[in-house]
Amino acid sequence: MKLQLLLITLIVSLTASCQSKIKGESAKTNPVMQTNITTELYDTYDAYKEPTLTKRRIKHNEIQPLIDKFRTKEGYTVKKVGTSIEGRPLSLISVGSGETNVFLWSQMHGDEPTATQAIFDILNFLDSNEFQTEKESILSNLTLHFLPMLNPDGAEVFTRRNTLGIDINRDALALQSPEGRTLKKIRDSLNADFGFNLHDQSTYYNAERTDKPATISYLAPAYNYEKEINDVRGNAMKIIVFMNRIIQNYAPGQVGRYNDDFEPRAFGDNIQKWGTSAILIESGGYKNDTEKQEIRKLNYVSILSAIYTISTKSYSEIAIADYDKIPENDRKLFDLKIENINYELLGKTYTLDLGIQRFETDKPNHQDFWVSSSIVEQGDLSTYYGYETFDASGYTATLGKLYPKRIATMTEFLKLDAYELLKQGYLYVVVDGIPEKITESPMPLNITRGTYKTAATLRLAVGVNPSFLLEKNGSLNYAIVNGYLIDLKLKKGAFKNALILK
Ligand SMILES: [Zn+2]
Repeated sequence: MKLQLLLITLIVSLTASCQSKIKGESAKTNPVMQTNITTELYDTYDAYKEPTLTKRRIKHNEIQPLIDKFRTKEGYTVKKVGTSIEGRPLSLISVGSGETNVFLWSQMHGDEPTATQAIFDILNFLDSNEFQTEKESILSNLTLHFLPMLNPDGAEVFTRRNTLGIDINRDALALQSPEGRTLKKIRDSLNADFGFNLHDQSTYYNAERTDKPATISYLAPAYNYEKEINDVRGNAMKIIVFMNRIIQNYAPGQVGRYNDDFEPRAFGDNIQKWGTSAILIESGGYKNDTEKQEIRKLNYVSILSAIYTISTKSYSEIAIADYDKIPENDRKLFDLKIENINYELLGKTYTLDLGIQRFETDKPNHQDFWVSSSIVEQGDLSTYYGYETFDASGYTATLGKLYPKRIATMTEFLKLDAYELLKQGYLYVVVDGIPEKITESPMPLNITRGTYKTAATLRLAVGVNPSFLLEKNGSLNYAIVNGYLIDLKLKKGAFKNALILK
């Protein structure tokens, strides 16, 4: 089936959806009809996925060769349009001959790389020999302009801000950052019709009052405090409704809508004000997708589909009112939620829920990380959700013991049966010969360097690292090690690392 026909099918199904809503029926469109538009793009994705980009911590020197590849390709222009504070070039890749200008920029926050990867996937798609009809529509009606990794200095050290220490997304008026000035200059020179402002958000966002992560969140930013809707903003809303329908096929319920309070200093809000339909896309979390490669694919499929619908102008049929039906973003997720655990304090037993989040610390090269977890909330957490939820009813949180035998080297440590030790109640092991450069324990046992003393009683509190055992009727069935749930009977649990304690 040709993409064009599929698109018409989608529009028809959207219209049907609005009508069925009026009749009081479910707003959900026929899922079979909905999947059509994206199926081909989704199914053939691997052929276009840029293979040199595989994880979140990507650097400018990894994308520069991918940009340079397009310098000699017919139909493409690559221009250096600016320089970051530390001197890294900012490049604009343009393709197409249409009158409608579509401008896409990514990673103005250095630690938000998902869409940068998707941009190179989209460029690979445009450079291929497949989907000729659709590409003809795109490239004859539109001129596409990509500015990947607007904040390469931040990306180098995987941090949000630029080297000046400011948030580029609050610099649209002051324009003190060369990166922000470049963004404004390009927007103005193109007077782009559409602008895709591509970010990542915290994985702890969820679609309001559901346990679904906000895998993708959208915003058609307001251009004034009154949050008025003119054609410019209205068109952004229509494109968002279109993309939301696509994401629903692959991540049902996992889309959120950002609060649209006007922020006078932000680029999205100003770009909308300056006359470019601004579409903010935030890549959030997806279960078991730490490196966000599934979310990257969803970016690819939905943004490419949006570009196509802009080229055919078929988005104009979409009802703006559907924008407000997308659930609002909330922030009620934990990596691990433990419910109803018994906690003994000063001779009495209390029952609590625990909310645990896992925080990443970069290794010195900023190419990899280790995890240190914290209890971030405790008490009645019935209005919160977990990527993983464990009902600990009947279990008592129990202090882990220090293994009595000192271990000489890391090699010796790795020979221990961690699950067996945990079952015996041991959670901490003294290892003498650990090189300083080793930052984490690769097994579900916390390592101490010898000076560490385990506490006399277990303390559960906000800010505390969650490492303890779960006891029921005298036996230890589960352990929580650095915020990871370990099943001691099945000897398994999603696990990255335990801690090395000073
Ligand atoms: Zn951002």
